[in-house]
Amino acid sequence: MFDSVLIANRGEIALRILRACRALQIRTIAVHSSADAHLRHVQLADQTLCIGPAASAQSYLDIGRLLEAAELTGAGAIHPGYGFLSERAEFAEAVERSGRVYIGPTAAAIRLMGDKVSAKKAMLESGVPCVPGSDGALPSNPQVVADIARDVGYPLIVKAAGGGGGRGMRIVREPSQLAQAVTTTREEANRAFGNPTLYIERFLENPRHIEIQILADGFGNAVWLGERDCSMQRRHQKVIEESPAPGVSREAIAEIGQRCVDACVHIGYRGAGTFEFLYEDGAFYFIEMNTRIQVEHPVTELVTGIDLVVEQLRIARGEPLSFGQKDVAVTGHAIECRINAEDPWRFTPAPGTVDHWLPPGGPGVRVESHLYSGYRVPAHYDSLVAKMLTHGSNREEAVSRMRQALGETVLEGISCTIPLHRRLMDEPGFTAGGYNIHHLEHLFEQGFGQSAESPHER
Ligand code: ADP
Repeated sequence: MFDSVLIANRGEIALRILRACRALQIRTIAVHSSADAHLRHVQLADQTLCIGPAASAQSYLDIGRLLEAAELTGAGAIHPGYGFLSERAEFAEAVERSGRVYIGPTAAAIRLMGDKVSAKKAMLESGVPCVPGSDGALPSNPQVVADIARDVGYPLIVKAAGGGGGRGMRIVREPSQLAQAVTTTREEANRAFGNPTLYIERFLENPRHIEIQILADGFGNAVWLGERDCSMQRRHQKVIEESPAPGVSREAIAEIGQRCVDACVHIGYRGAGTFEFLYEDGAFYFIEMNTRIQVEHPVTELVTGIDLVVEQLRIARGEPLSFGQKDVAVTGHAIECRINAEDPWRFTPAPGTVDHWLPPGGPGVRVESHLYSGYRVPAHYDSLVAKMLTHGSNREEAVSRMRQALGETVLEGISCTIPLHRRLMDEPGFTAGGYNIHHLEHLFEQGFGQSAESPHER
């Protein structure tokens, strides 16, 4: 049990966590870097503390400083949000060792699922279908690797066991490219993740990205809360998410959802989590699990009416889940557009001062954002500045509400991805639904962004 939470994050998710804490009358402690003193949640928190300079390594990623801050402020629990330390087992361990509650899974579960090789093994044991590939980590002998690759079949993808954020993977179409790809990816993995372990998977040519949200209480109760289709991607980064996934049968979703629940029980999972799948020709293939709250979690909240962050807090307080699978119903359709402070056509970061921010409203509209007029977006962090969501009784209504919401929104002073989203809402592939993960890249190759030079679109 705890009655105060230190929010070890920034931006929109820190504000989201603050609101969930308020719903449960939990005292909030905002810690921030020197570049972030003006964040919205810092203005609202019960207590605030500057923990270091702008550089994340010396603030949001510094476990020692965060624990000191927890000690100084008397925090009973720590919420990691997403990104930063949210999937670092040693952070969860250090928090618990300090006698505080870590709002998330056990360190053991984070470690198991954080290594994609051990995660796939655990999933196969639990009956979750995975992308066909190497049986565990690749050995160092190039001849043995070549044999494994031949068995898996080309094209294939070489992936880092410790990879994340779309980095540490390489597609190989011909046996002659294999050795070089393995060497380069191994070096990259070692440098970026401190873990040279690699594995191989069949490369699926035209999959969709569909993920299952789960909640588990650590007492053997787990539920799945529908799916999210996150196939609108640019450089392996999600741009739009929606639920339900258009055109996928409810029976197929229920079947994979149940397998995810079984896996949670099998690995003793606790908290919120997401099983990510590639979906091709009617089949699901597990690629990884995120052992934290995700950016796109509000999509699920809109269709299920369940507050996932409040549930995270309740689970961390040691409460059993207050509802079962039969109580979870998906109603209507929800869409999320990620608004980044970036050039919408080149995706280059565009930090700066927001001169004017006027978010949309109306039925079925939800905005998650820490922006306000006069706020300066710092250059040091992820460029996500707002998430715009709409909910409708069906997909058509959700899209139409999104079109309206994007049209109403005023965001002046910085470049952002709203013009891209406005255009996507009328793009035939998007409006039809069921597009694959290459759809947006293909649109760009066909010049989708090039006639966007009119002043109102910049
Ligand atoms: P990360 O942890 O870096 O996000 P993932 O394993 O989740 O890595 O993969 C990210 C993205 O890379 C997927 O959404 C998909 O677009 C692509 N991808 C990964 N594995 C495969 C595969 N076997 N075949 C085709 N595309 C893949």
